[in-house]
Amino acid sequence: MPNWPLTRAFIPYGAQRISKADIERVTRVMRSDFLTQGPVVPEFERELAAKVGAKYSVAASSATGSLHLAYMALGLQPGHVVWTTPISFVATANAARYCGADVEFVDIDESTFNLSAAKLEQKLLHQKKIGGRLPHIVVTVHLAGLPTEQEAILELSRRFGFKIVEDASHALGAKYNKHYVGSCRYSDVTVFSFHPVKIITTAEGGIATTNDLDLARRMASLRSHGIRRNPDEFASTSHGDWFYEMQELGYNYRMNEIQAALGLSQLRQLDKFMQARSTIREYYEQKAQVQGFRIQTQPEGSISANHLVIAHVNPELRKSIFDNMRAKGIGVNVHYIPIPMHPYYGSDLKMEGLPAALDYYRGAITLPIYPGLKKRELNYITANLRPLSGHQSVF
Ligand SMILES: *Cc1c(COP(=O)(O)O)cnc(C)c1O
Repeated sequence: MPNWPLTRAFIPYGAQRISKADIERVTRVMRSDFLTQGPVVPEFERELAAKVGAKYSVAASSATGSLHLAYMALGLQPGHVVWTTPISFVATANAARYCGADVEFVDIDESTFNLSAAKLEQKLLHQKKIGGRLPHIVVTVHLAGLPTEQEAILELSRRFGFKIVEDASHALGAKYNKHYVGSCRYSDVTVFSFHPVKIITTAEGGIATTNDLDLARRMASLRSHGIRRNPDEFASTSHGDWFYEMQELGYNYRMNEIQAALGLSQLRQLDKFMQARSTIREYYEQKAQVQGFRIQTQPEGSISANHLVIAHVNPELRKSIFDNMRAKGIGVNVHYIPIPMHPYYGSDLKMEGLPAALDYYRGAITLPIYPGLKKRELNYITANLRPLSGHQSVF
């Protein structure tokens, strides 16, 4: 068991913020005729798509489900390979394994900690030269809410013929080249998560946005057993008004009305949440300069959703800093253990060819950030951002 105090005084690394309006909106659904498959899920889908500037969106019971739906709709199957960043939550890769596809990793950029377009190009050119497998889908992950360099990746997708999915689980509200992440200007599908630590919450939930009607319809059908109910989409002729068709094997990944009601109400507070997160990030940025630790660089043209603030400290002191902070009741974390290091993904090669990701992992430490985190708590966190006593406070 962890030896840090899990008391009420514990400051978590992330937390939801639930308002009276949220509770009222959810309560209204509880008293309504529909707990699932009613009008609120489509309303949430429309509002979210409108907010990020996408034509369509398909809500699901989790972002993991949404990733699986996106990969399936893009035709991912055994024999295919998905390329992604090693620095993500395992779900990004797992959803590809659900389709029977293999997963390979592309190294990250040293300053943004996101998948590097330059390293992606190198790997593509190398594969082409040796006649190796090219990716069916490249999945970018906007780590901590910071958009990946999608423009360069879109360019590569045209040269090498792969699909693009953005795992934007951290990045609702983020902007890239003045457009909201989720607009799908640089990808086929974008996925957001509504887990309570993410930017807005539905308790559990996810959504996929796209501008492609066929992809949207296919994801919506796969979300509910592979069933189609729209006569336009039938392969055969309707027998009558009761008719529906199951065209391929789908799942039950539906979001329910209670979740969507919470999501709708939370979505209306997104700008407020973004503002609060940005203020906290600025505080950490100032402290980083004074105390001499490094945080993720935000390039021109990118506005992060600030889901996480990731500091990079001296790898030799990381464990000591982590232990000291946990002992002081500060819920620091590490995002993430590189996916290929997990035994399920680990081969003899493991982190070979991924030196930047390994370097990143050794010094990474996630500092608490969420709307509602107090100035007093921020002072306490940064004052304790140092190794256990006996060590020099150097980064
Ligand atoms: C949270 C997260 C997911 C999974 O989201 P769920 O809604 O919990 O399924 C996937 N990818 C990344 C990068 C995440 O942070």
